[in-house]
Amino acid sequence: MDRSAAHPGFRHFREAALTSIAYFPCAAATLILTRFDGGVAIVWLASSVLFAALCARPRRRWTGIVLLCLPTAMLASHLFGMRGWASIPLPLICVAEAVFAAWLIKRAYPRFGRFQSVPEVGWFLAIGGFAVPATTALLAAWCVHQARGISFGIAWRDWYAGHALGLVAFAPPMLLTLRGQTRQWIATAGSSRMREALVLIGLVAAASLAAFGQERIPLVILPFMPMIAATLRLGRFGAIVSIVVLLAIALPLSIAGHGPTMLLRGDIAVRLQVLQVYFASIVLILLPLAAELRTRRRLFERMNAAEALHRVVLDRTSDIIIRLGVDGTLRYASPSTERVWGYRPDELTGRIMFHLVSAEDLPAVLEARRRVLASPDETAIAEYRVLCKDGDWIWMESHMRAVLDEKGAVIGNVSIVREVTGRRKLMEDLTHQAMTDPLTGLYNRRAFEEALPALLASGDGSEALGCVAVFDLDHFKRINDRFGHACGDLVLQRFADVLRASVREGDLVSRLGGEEFAVVLGGMGPEQARLVCERIRKRTERAEVHDRADGIIHVTVSAGIAPLARGQGDDEALRNADLALYRAKNAGRNRSELAA
Ligand code: GH3
Ligand code: MG
Ligand code: MG
Repeated sequence: MDRSAAHPGFRHFREAALTSIAYFPCAAATLILTRFDGGVAIVWLASSVLFAALCARPRRRWTGIVLLCLPTAMLASHLFGMRGWASIPLPLICVAEAVFAAWLIKRAYPRFGRFQSVPEVGWFLAIGGFAVPATTALLAAWCVHQARGISFGIAWRDWYAGHALGLVAFAPPMLLTLRGQTRQWIATAGSSRMREALVLIGLVAAASLAAFGQERIPLVILPFMPMIAATLRLGRFGAIVSIVVLLAIALPLSIAGHGPTMLLRGDIAVRLQVLQVYFASIVLILLPLAAELRTRRRLFERMNAAEALHRVVLDRTSDIIIRLGVDGTLRYASPSTERVWGYRPDELTGRIMFHLVSAEDLPAVLEARRRVLASPDETAIAEYRVLCKDGDWIWMESHMRAVLDEKGAVIGNVSIVREVTGRRKLMEDLTHQAMTDPLTGLYNRRAFEEALPALLASGDGSEALGCVAVFDLDHFKRINDRFGHACGDLVLQRFADVLRASVREGDLVSRLGGEEFAVVLGGMGPEQARLVCERIRKRTERAEVHDRADGIIHVTVSAGIAPLARGQGDDEALRNADLALYRAKNAGRNRSELAA
């Protein structure tokens, strides 16, 4: 029958039964081999079997596993352990120890079971290597003391040392195997990695044999070297497998009377205690080292992945990415600078970026950057012109954000910069269109109305603001009627030319609508303005526009002039000029009038 197809109830029973069956030889072997002078076993493996089984399974299945383990624990204790009433509570304490440790660690670190992070390994060592065995040793030592008269202190010490070491050394390999991680590691490791693993573990075995197979030279440090190499190269598996290999070699040899512990004065119990301290120090070094390495490797992998992504983005994007130090020196520029600005990144790094920004836009850029550096959570946007290598100015839009060091201090800013010359041009064109009269190319009424208030508010009052003159072509309707609308348009264009040619550059000339025009003659007094208007009137009168049938069109114009006064409403000036124009019309047209 396919294993995965087995009924879940049966599968769970089989799991519990296997745990129970595995518990027995572990308990029996340590009881037979490591009990001296009728005391407690000095090495204890059985708790790690039960602990690993519980940690690998959900809590709802614990009861079944524990219930099946109890009889085997009792049996082993009865057959090979202490005689008398102590053989009842001691196996119960052993089972309770595994359950207690599994329960505590699942509470402290719910995802426990991978031995991948330093906190996970730290909790495991604190609970399995200290808190739980130290507590159960109190109960057990009391029983042993009562039942056998053995010193409480010695019983506590032997129990604690054996159970703590058994748990921290053997639970990890069992748990990883139960969780299928060992199989997965073997499946994913390539053949060269497998060979490397075999060589390293072989070296651990050889060094352990060399150190524990003889008792002339104390070579206890020797297995450390291949064990650390195995941890560095193979991670947690290297650490755990080499610990198991060392224990599997050193423990039986030491019990059989070999190895450096023979050089100690004292009985076998003392020698095994010293050995356990030695094993414990190795576990305390290798497991956290493996976890730390793993954390670092993960960090490194994440950094590599981020770096690769970063490269792809930087190489593909048409945007420019730059990083500036706090002082404004360019620390990094993406390869796209060459395509957009013409500068290679290495031509820019180390330079002050702001030297390339147009002086006109610089204050806004510096202000945006100041804001970003002051509040690192903000992104600021600035638009500015940059001087390209070929001497062209192009518009850029920059999104800036502060860069912090690991302590949270601002060390500069990073910006994504995109060329927006096209957009700026479009905006300028649209603005121009919105402000311009399409027939004559002069400003339209809207532009005129927007410019006038600014003009009326400007200056310090020490000199005249100027005058506004309003022009209206005389009997223009007749021209349209006689020569057609197209010729009327030509006349309007021609008059616009006359206006442009008759005023100074910078004077605001606009077509207010139809055949009405307005000019602001900046800085001129009324009389001077009148002279200009007269010149325009005369030039208009003299101008000739040819129609398609070679007819010659003449047109005249009337003008009203009003002085501009500071603080005056803009429609007031225009109204005054209109009134003057009205008088000019009434007085017979083809003339100019000053506002009263
Ligand atoms: P007045 O001397 O009193 O100003 O007489 P007028 O005929 O010029 O006065 P009115 O304001 O009645 O006529 C203006 C005419 O201008 C009416 C309209 O047909 C014409 N007009 C307005 N806009 C345009 C234009 O864009 N092109 C042409 N060809 N004619 C226009
Ligand atoms: Mg009119
Ligand atoms: Mg008119």
